Amino acid sequence: MCGIVAYVGNKDICPLLLEGLKRLEYRGYDSAGLCVGTKAGFYVKRAAGRISVLEAAIDDKMHGDKALVGNIGMAHTRWATHGPPTECNAHPHMDDQQRVALVHNGIIENFASLKQFLTEKGHHFSSETDTEVLAVLIGHFYQGDLAKAVQLALREVRGTYGLAAMAVSEPDTLVVARRGSPLIIGVGKDEYIVASDAAAIVEHTTQVVYLNDNEMAVIRPGGFKTMTTDDIPVTKAINEVEFSLQQIELGGYEHFMLKEIFEQPEAIANCLRGRVDLHEGRVVLGGIGAYSRDVVRARRIIITACGTAWHAGLVGEFLFEDLAKIPTEVEYASEFRYRNPIIEEGTMVLAISQSGETADTLAALREAKDRGALSLGIVNAVGSTIARETDAGIYLHVGPEIGVASTKAFCGQIVVESLLALSIARRKYMSQNVLNEFLQAIIKIPDQMRKVLEQSSSIRDVTAQYIHRENWLFLGRGYNYPVALEGALKLKEISYIHAEGLPAAEMKHGPIALINPGMPVVFVATRGSQYEKLLGNIQEVKARGGKIIAVASEGDDYIHRVADHVFTVPETIEPLQPLLTVLPLQLLAYHAAVLRNCNVDKPRNLAKSVTVE
Ligand code: GLU
Repeated sequence: MCGIVAYVGNKDICPLLLEGLKRLEYRGYDSAGLCVGTKAGFYVKRAAGRISVLEAAIDDKMHGDKALVGNIGMAHTRWATHGPPTECNAHPHMDDQQRVALVHNGIIENFASLKQFLTEKGHHFSSETDTEVLAVLIGHFYQGDLAKAVQLALREVRGTYGLAAMAVSEPDTLVVARRGSPLIIGVGKDEYIVASDAAAIVEHTTQVVYLNDNEMAVIRPGGFKTMTTDDIPVTKAINEVEFSLQQIELGGYEHFMLKEIFEQPEAIANCLRGRVDLHEGRVVLGGIGAYSRDVVRARRIIITACGTAWHAGLVGEFLFEDLAKIPTEVEYASEFRYRNPIIEEGTMVLAISQSGETADTLAALREAKDRGALSLGIVNAVGSTIARETDAGIYLHVGPEIGVASTKAFCGQIVVESLLALSIARRKYMSQNVLNEFLQAIIKIPDQMRKVLEQSSSIRDVTAQYIHRENWLFLGRGYNYPVALEGALKLKEISYIHAEGLPAAEMKHGPIALINPGMPVVFVATRGSQYEKLLGNIQEVKARGGKIIAVASEGDDYIHRVADHVFTVPETIEPLQPLLTVLPLQLLAYHAAVLRNCNVDKPRNLAKSVTVE
């Protein structure tokens, strides 16, 4: 998920690798490391924290035994998925016989069974990462030919990788491979620079080879060969990179927020990876481990969070009550901690936070733990404080979120809550058939998201018509009520338009007084158990001259007759609708902010991770 830089050539290797890593820093990372070949074997340095920490740790006096045997090396910035961001979990990872080294982006899904296999064969491990398992597996197959050992190991691997590997006894060889995680080879004059992202390459060369999934390359000072991971040679074209650095960092998008909105299909696929076993009809949540019996027996759930994560928590309330039949409350963390909360036997507290550092959520979590609650974290940043302080947890795995307004983390939080609710439900009341239906529906979500995102330009056109209006309402019912709240929050935080989100029926108890001719009112109006009632609410707004912007189900012809503008989402089961209906609202807020010349990625007065009370 984060960054790789590797080099074969004549330049001074350590500064070059560090410079490359710094180019990838914008993606977010938590630790880093590098490996270069010396006369005495590999020089490996790793550090938790910023690249400057690694830089300070590197000994630049490379002479005597430490003299380089050639300018070959590789480096990594880690964005932890398995094991906290410590020095010991940072890459490169060596096999247990110290013969091969590996840097890796992505997730090895079957790392647990591979680890068991390798342990039975007498191998041992020194980190908590999935990557080390792959390093040891490559070492297990290694008999003097690194490329062969990598191929044999990759045959056993399920999951995603962009990787680079070196072997002590082949000091002039770099082996790289990819599946599901990008890897590019820059071809310079007598040098090759490999990176997960063109940002680290363009200062050296604009000539690049893009590896496809299941392809690999063996790179030596005199040239490189490309082949599939099954060892079938492939001839690759050399392309010219035409982007500026800034464009590369943003991947062609104008802002990180837009990039992250569009990344959601992939982010959600990553979040689901290894967790939905369609074959066996099971949900696999490794992070619950030893606590799974207590989780299933929970008699009450308290979800505590702030902001967008609190909205995801509201969706969770529906999911846990509807599917798992456990009474659930959602609490603002800042209120919960000071309210002398009642925690009875069987209470489970779920703390939701993208960064895992949100001060109020952390304090609420500590309060609940002190009072004896079982605590679970739903967090994006691996090894963050909330992740460490909860009894168990589930990571989002949606990749680093840079834009201040949270988008992909919201959807990741809902997916994780759904999986947790389903895994509890199946062990209590839910039949296998019903679970299978859910699982079939959830794996379709990434593709369905792509369809929704295609409407971005029509969403912009509609938004442009209302951009001068300073008051908006967002209304929804049931599972889509939290989505209405989230739509209003997104608009407020980045475009500074005043917006209110409400359960649709609440409107007539007060806010209806606000409606005047031309006021934009957004309805999340997908087909579902409360669809007809919502149509009634639409009529109430229309009667007062409000303009209706509806997010509706594909194929709903009727809604076009009552709404002024319609954005559509594909059909899915009601509990999963928020994952699709929130996307048009994220885009609406984004376009509104751009049209009003606001700083989308750094909205005024806000910070990405709120670490103060
Ligand atoms: N899954 C690996 C780890 O946790 C790689 C993460 C990354 O892509 O940085 O170490």
